[in-house]
Amino acid sequence: MPKSKKNILSEKEGIVPPEGLNPKAVERLRAKKRRLPKTDQLKEGILAGDITALSRGITLIESTAKRHQQQGSELVKHCLPHSGRSLRIGLTGVPGVGKSTFIEQMGLHLIQQGRKVAVLAVDPSSSLSKGSILGDKTRMEQLVQQANAYIRPSASGDSLGGVARKTREAIILCEAAGFDVIIIETVGVGQSETAVHSMTDFFLLLKLAGAGDELQGIKRGIIEMADAIVINKADGENKKAARQAKLAFNRALHLYPPKENGWVPKTLEASALEGTGIDKTWDLLVDFKEKMVDSGAFQSRRNDQLRYWLEQTISDSLRSRFYGNKKIKKVLDKQLELLKAQQTTPYHAAMALLELFERD
Ligand code: GDP
Repeated sequence: MPKSKKNILSEKEGIVPPEGLNPKAVERLRAKKRRLPKTDQLKEGILAGDITALSRGITLIESTAKRHQQQGSELVKHCLPHSGRSLRIGLTGVPGVGKSTFIEQMGLHLIQQGRKVAVLAVDPSSSLSKGSILGDKTRMEQLVQQANAYIRPSASGDSLGGVARKTREAIILCEAAGFDVIIIETVGVGQSETAVHSMTDFFLLLKLAGAGDELQGIKRGIIEMADAIVINKADGENKKAARQAKLAFNRALHLYPPKENGWVPKTLEASALEGTGIDKTWDLLVDFKEKMVDSGAFQSRRNDQLRYWLEQTISDSLRSRFYGNKKIKKVLDKQLELLKAQQTTPYHAAMALLELFERD
């Protein structure tokens, strides 16, 4: 009998596999096939707003398996022409400042207005240590239940670059699925805020009122990046301190040179717990988008996002090719020995390695 080209999985539903096959292996293969729909099927699903297809697409992007990653990037390419129609908001603040409470309130507010809200996270700590800062607790319990909300915890990865790439790609898929507000949350670990800033249109910093020392302990560069600072927990006995913090931050913001896009960063007060200040924050975002679209600055920031993405991809892939190169691995150890013995300088060692890499 000629051998059938079909494998057991292409048999019709309901047909019992021939005897002798390990039923568990058959089920595993079937499950594998179920898990891996075709790229165009996924694309159609995503464009139709199907959340299962969106989740599967993001899972492909996040996978460590090369073939999944390839399928994932094909999918991103197909979805790219359908993306872009959203406001990408970056949000940062120390743990406990109220990020999830704030996002939940904002998300519910927007859904009431008929919008679709996706919440993604960039948390490189999930790869540095076992637990992640953002992801462990049950968060945004009400928002999660909304049909027009999509919440995805941070991808993990062995570098911020890896996590950032996956998040950028996830943004594209979410937009193609019709989400028109994308909130990207981060905690200030390493350079994560810079990475989130580089992939968003608006950067929001959540702060708490302190005892007159609001500006202390704030990472350099964050204020420059912020398009708005929201003092959260402006409720109960904290109201007065929040007002003072707002004024202090306002003064601080004016010390910085004006932004190239002409936007003057604003400070606001909010209580995510009581739901106050959320609508004002959204109004500010709408005002920002209108102004930036009118002046052309919105598109130019989007172009910057693409350029940054390209440059980041080049440097990440050069770095991984370099360190993954067998010859380099060998010679790197030798050069390190020479360095220890003071027989070369880091500069000369680096040049020798780069020359070897170029020749390879
Ligand atoms: P995250 O770690 O930044 O995501 O912070 P959470 O949203 O988990 O909030 C940390 C704690 O602060 C929780 O107990 C919240 O209930 C509380 N919280 C959040 N927002 C407010 C607020 O506006 N006012 C008050 N009083 N508490 C808040």
